[in-house]
Amino acid sequence: MNEYFKEKNFYIETYGCQMNFYDTEIVVSIMNKMGFNYTNNIQYANVILINTCSIRQNAEDLIIKRLNTIKNIIHSDTIVGIIGCMAERLKHKLLNENELITFVVGPDSYEELPEVLFKAFNKIKSCNVTLSRTQTYDNIIPTSINKNIYSYISIMRGCDNMCTFCVVPFTRGRERSKNPVSIFKEIDVLLSKNIKKIILIGQNVDSYKWKKNNDVVDFSCLLDQIAKKFPELIITFTTSHPKDMTEDVIYTISNNKNILKYIHLPIQSGSNKILNLMKRKYDTETFLQKIHFIRQIIPNCSISTDIMTGFCGETEKDHSETLNIMEKIKFNFAYMFKYSNREGTYASKKMQDNLSDSEKNNRLQEIIELQKKHTLLRSSQFIGKYCNILINGRSKKSNKDFVGFNEQNYKVIFPKKDNLYPGKYVNVLIQSYSHNTLIGKISDEKR
Ligand code: SF4
Repeated sequence: MNEYFKEKNFYIETYGCQMNFYDTEIVVSIMNKMGFNYTNNIQYANVILINTCSIRQNAEDLIIKRLNTIKNIIHSDTIVGIIGCMAERLKHKLLNENELITFVVGPDSYEELPEVLFKAFNKIKSCNVTLSRTQTYDNIIPTSINKNIYSYISIMRGCDNMCTFCVVPFTRGRERSKNPVSIFKEIDVLLSKNIKKIILIGQNVDSYKWKKNNDVVDFSCLLDQIAKKFPELIITFTTSHPKDMTEDVIYTISNNKNILKYIHLPIQSGSNKILNLMKRKYDTETFLQKIHFIRQIIPNCSISTDIMTGFCGETEKDHSETLNIMEKIKFNFAYMFKYSNREGTYASKKMQDNLSDSEKNNRLQEIIELQKKHTLLRSSQFIGKYCNILINGRSKKSNKDFVGFNEQNYKVIFPKKDNLYPGKYVNVLIQSYSHNTLIGKISDEKR
């Protein structure tokens, strides 16, 4: 197979969450092993792969739009394949409705790419979308196409929660965890490539469970083992589920210096009625208790969240309850969305998407405005503080500045100095902020 694809180039574009960016690295490894070379110039590519996201309708619309642009800039014999969540969700529909596409491959079928591409070069279209109960890509070391000092590691795949609005269980399948030995091996390789920070990812990391004989490794145990085995690495993780995050996980964060004091805990709504309709399996009281416990054990912990507004049946009262709980918690940061109906989900089949777009937009705007206030308040608390910053690279806005991250995972911008480079630590005095970005200067003084 190697000889067949030798001298051929592939280009890959990635949309969506960290899991997709991680999967792109798995796909790059598989393509390299087959003999393909990666190119960042779409016009030099013999094969174009689009790693897609299905989480919201506008994510899919964006990809369809992108395919129309691609059509006009590539050679007629270039092969285009759709991989990722949209491939899994729309399957043959993509092949039938868009003549540009030669193959679709779902997130659990990347090891079939050699066969798929062999067919594609022989002008045979194919659809490969079988979800697996075991695939974790244990045997593949991901290959990054970007130069970064951080890297993602997927520790589990899929989700068993079946929240009524969510398409993930249908595009990513059932939960399965990666063998800790494979995870350690992957980290060893990353260390040899000078990676300084790892982000453990999974649709619900708190569900991580690896069983061998009578031994069980759960998420807190895995996290603790990684932190102790690799003390030189900075570690963080996402995404947690409020119903599954244990006190042990919180103690593990608190007890290990190299785990960032940062937790992303999606609340989705402040109304128990809506949480129940979403089948989130926790109520606002439990959520508040969890936040209280985190702040008690890790007083300097930053907490971000996801909020979805305009879910089926959401009234003005439910919306006010969301604003109320936001006011109580004052999250450091939030990802805020309006509900969009996803075909195939329980909500799409059994509930009524009864709010107009303008009602959803108004509520979303109120949520965004309130969160902006909280974000600024939380950012202002860093003014005058000294932070130990891991330098990530050059700031996108100015060649003269570095960007790095502090212990609470805040982005920090500061002027460059000689003899400093990405991967080094530096002491920065925070002087100002813009939204949730902190701005400072390198200082010799310590806190
Ligand atoms: S926990 Fe719920 S929202 Fe998150 S991926 Fe699973 S089903 Fe989707």
